[in-house]
Amino acid sequence: MCAAIHGDEIIGVEIIRRLLKLKILRHLRGTLIAVPVVNVYGLINHTRYLPDRRDLNRFFPGSQKGSLTSRLADIFMKEIVSNSTHGIDLHAGSHHRINLPHIRACVDNPETEKLAYAFGAPVILNADLRDGSLRQAVEAEGIPMLLYEAGEALRFDEFAVRAGVKGILAVMRTIGMLKSGTVKRSRIQPIVAKSTSWVRAPASGILRTQVPLGGKIAVNQKIGEIADPFDEHESAVISPVAGIVIGRMDLPLVHNGDALIHIASFDDSVAVSESLDDFREEIGGSMSPQPEG
Ligand SMILES: [Zn+2]
Repeated sequence: MCAAIHGDEIIGVEIIRRLLKLKILRHLRGTLIAVPVVNVYGLINHTRYLPDRRDLNRFFPGSQKGSLTSRLADIFMKEIVSNSTHGIDLHAGSHHRINLPHIRACVDNPETEKLAYAFGAPVILNADLRDGSLRQAVEAEGIPMLLYEAGEALRFDEFAVRAGVKGILAVMRTIGMLKSGTVKRSRIQPIVAKSTSWVRAPASGILRTQVPLGGKIAVNQKIGEIADPFDEHESAVISPVAGIVIGRMDLPLVHNGDALIHIASFDDSVAVSESLDDFREEIGGSMSPQPEG
């Protein structure tokens, strides 16, 4: 398991810290490799990038003689990935965006699919393998890997941390690293999204939005307004799709075309809503601060 490939996405650092403290790990079978901070440079500078301004997650598998970023990717592949049988990469929303805890995985691979369901986050995105990502490089080696997305960059989020710890333990139990009886089985039935899309700003200005993470959205539903500081020239933000909010812009200052609300569409949104209710109950506490305005 690894975190902070994007140096400002620190939620996984806390997930790993908390997980390693658990007494249950005394009964560990196999080896758990924990890399709480992959991009140390980014973490120190509170940024996603490396000092050469590159995004590490676009440079895998890297090369020994390439840029600083490329060399770090190469070291990670050789030292960590080649010694692993399974992987979990921990991320958070970037650029002032907050994410509903969810799993991104290549569910076309049956072994990866099994892990994705085991993690127990209600929403799974069958995410395309982005060129140069760790996930792409790892899956190319035949190693199943999950990406956990939750919370926001530069912040901790208790709900997202707890859900992350629980999910990793559930995956470890599924692959036999922990005895079945030692981790409580989740009653969440994760559902794979049919598609996802971003609702973009129809104008520049100040955004007010009322949609919470996990909220159900109907087609053509108004999900916010954008106006100038005198509240004139108001533009309604309308969702062209139905689904569940899995990501949301936190910064109210937006430009025309900015990605504001990330919506995942499902065949049965009601089932996902119910699953999210169970998830809240199971993890405990509030999923995210509710938006104001
Ligand atoms: Zn990230």
